Amino acid sequence: MTDLTNFSIVDLVNGIKNKDFTSEEVTKSFIKNAENSDKLNAYITKCFDEALVSAKNFDKKNISKGLLPGIPIAVKDMFCTKDVKTTAGSKILNNFLPTYESTVTNKLWLEGAFLLGKLNCDEFAMGSSNETSFFGNVTNPFGDKIVPGGSSGGSASALAANLTPATIGTDTGGSIRQPASFTGTVGLKPTYGRCSRWGIVAFASSLDQAGPLTKTVEDCALLLHAMSGYDPKDSTSVNIKVNDFSSNLTEKVKDLTIGIPKEYRVEDMPTEIDKLWKKGIDFLKDAGVVIKDISLPHTMYALPTYYIVAPAEASSNLARYDGVKYGHRSKGNNLIEMYENTRSEGFGDEVKRRILIGTYVLSSGYYDAYYLKAQKVRKLIKEDFDKAFNNVDAILTPSTPSSAFKMGEKKDDPVSMYLNDIFTVPVNLAGLPAISIPSGYDKNNLPLGLQLIGRPFDEQMILNLSLALQKRMNFKRNIKAWWK
Ligand code: GLN
Repeated sequence: MTDLTNFSIVDLVNGIKNKDFTSEEVTKSFIKNAENSDKLNAYITKCFDEALVSAKNFDKKNISKGLLPGIPIAVKDMFCTKDVKTTAGSKILNNFLPTYESTVTNKLWLEGAFLLGKLNCDEFAMGSSNETSFFGNVTNPFGDKIVPGGSSGGSASALAANLTPATIGTDTGGSIRQPASFTGTVGLKPTYGRCSRWGIVAFASSLDQAGPLTKTVEDCALLLHAMSGYDPKDSTSVNIKVNDFSSNLTEKVKDLTIGIPKEYRVEDMPTEIDKLWKKGIDFLKDAGVVIKDISLPHTMYALPTYYIVAPAEASSNLARYDGVKYGHRSKGNNLIEMYENTRSEGFGDEVKRRILIGTYVLSSGYYDAYYLKAQKVRKLIKEDFDKAFNNVDAILTPSTPSSAFKMGEKKDDPVSMYLNDIFTVPVNLAGLPAISIPSGYDKNNLPLGLQLIGRPFDEQMILNLSLALQKRMNFKRNIKAWWK
């Protein structure tokens, strides 16, 4: 029989609806693959028995309703899943069993999907290489000892290695798009407010967004449709109509205008990335798009701004982990000692670094100099985009300044690690939608991605442009399963 794990979700949904195969057969195929792939360390929690029961129940009922009927899906371990361990990649949540389900995962289940497992990630989604997880590094299926990117590294690795047909991640500064770029997959960060944050472990609340990671642009449109929508439980959720992104998907993009920001041509960028960018521009021209040079003058301040705003919000969000209400608790002779021991033992180094930076920039005397200043610069970054979108329909940039790197290469140098996010963080600061699509390989045969940035709530535009690019790129994800 053909290997069902190579299928896109669109094809799996059609196959299940047409009774070409059953949900049980699909689920078993992914389970078999995942069971042979422990070396990648993509899963933290496997829900394979429960998934098989759900698949059998689905097949017995014989009704294919919803957008994702009978589809097993593994999700990043940042989404709270009722009665299923949710760790955020941290020791401090090692024993946490939520009593509730996140809105976004619940939406997937309402569309007919069910949980296959929880995927590894950087601790509290802080990282760009999946090396900060308490549950160990994740390996990129494109090479041994190569990072899959982060923080949704387990999600990207599991998807590229066919251990789940699609997945969802969270993106605070690039955590969906950067790992998608490193693994030859499609990753979309929706507009801030498009998908509910309710029930997602919080990192930086004004930046966090959930979004899909998929094999194709068509799958991305389908999954985004399933997860989007207003949620009164999230005060930042926006009450706006959810488009049927799949039905409206078209590669007819003629006469649209795409901006090329000159500030993204950074120093020391490998020539391969420059070439890739040029290839994207040529392909878009071929699709009838008008290319326009633009300027986003405050881009150079995006990274320092992000690394003030994100740690500030993280230090506040992570104050709740005190060993009292839930999660890991260490012993202590008194309350203060218990707090100290719990947080010292429960958090890893990167999380502690962020809490220290965040507490510092929020402390009296420094608040105005750092936090308030950063908020002002954030506004200028947003205004750069607003101005650009008066003249262009979307913006094309590389997704990352390099391809996937070796484990350990940047681990002890946080600044070089943070530089990975140079093309992705401005988008989060401005709350915009952006997608990374696989666009080619570098000389070491590692995938590279291009990013399309859209106007607020115009995910359809960047999906359509991505479809036009996908067709012309003809990218093949050729992975030999060397880890089995
Ligand atoms: N790599 C960035 C960071 O470490 C972004 C992480 C994310 O998007 N969750 O903060």
